[in-house]
Amino acid sequence: MKALDYNTGQKPVWCPGCGNFAIWNSIKKALAEAGVEPHRLALVSGIGCSGKMINHVRAYGFHGLHGRTMPVATGIRLANPDMKVLVNGGDGDGYGMGVGHFVHSMRRNVDLTYIVHNNKVYGLTTGQASPTNDVGSPSKSTPFGVVDEPLNPIAIAIDAGATYVARGFSGDSEQLAELILGGLNHNGFALIDVFQPCVTFGGKYQYEYYQERVVKIENHDVTDADAALKLSKTKDKLPIGLFYKAEGHPSYNEMHPEIEKAQVRKRDVTALLEELV
Ligand code: SF4
Repeated sequence: MKALDYNTGQKPVWCPGCGNFAIWNSIKKALAEAGVEPHRLALVSGIGCSGKMINHVRAYGFHGLHGRTMPVATGIRLANPDMKVLVNGGDGDGYGMGVGHFVHSMRRNVDLTYIVHNNKVYGLTTGQASPTNDVGSPSKSTPFGVVDEPLNPIAIAIDAGATYVARGFSGDSEQLAELILGGLNHNGFALIDVFQPCVTFGGKYQYEYYQERVVKIENHDVTDADAALKLSKTKDKLPIGLFYKAEGHPSYNEMHPEIEKAQVRKRDVTALLEELV
């Protein structure tokens, strides 16, 4: 399949210039490269502008409640190991409302690819500060500036047990597609945090802000968790690329042989039924 084959024909209603467009393109490119057929793909979205992604990618789609993508995605992954499960949500959804589910899914190493549109605001509700916004930034909910320290999703993911941890930038959709492809091909929990400017309500966090600060990760041992953690705490610059990758850790499905056995039985029955038809 080609990237364009994943189009549904529905026209996105995101604001012109929104980083969601580049993420959409990167997702389709990575899916085509990975050879994931639409009938083998479940796309789970949370609430937010990013949640509309399920309207624009040919796949089975589930638009969950705010912050509840992980339980739904875990259920799909356990119930049908033949499905690739791609989760797509915003930073408010995943790192605010859904942070508990986020952490527990990573410690279980559920085999999911989780793309987080990190624009530091709740865009759909017109610009309240999200948990990744920096101290001092004004927003609709913090007119005198944010006072809470920002959450570091990369550091949390490495510590919590995610086995593929990356960060992309919607201003570099080529690299982002490669990072998503790496996540799709990984067995275990893959986080791809994405700097994505909200051009309408994002305040100072626009393309120029990121273009001045992002640096591609180079000369880094992605198997070294301590080095990855240190890299995630870089000051002044914003590293993008693959921070951490651990091979050989069983995924949640593999930790439950009884589920795998049930699936094998189900596949046998399905094959038998197909033979009979
Ligand atoms: Fe994108 Fe922000 Fe517009 Fe939502 S409000 S579509 S995040 S630019």
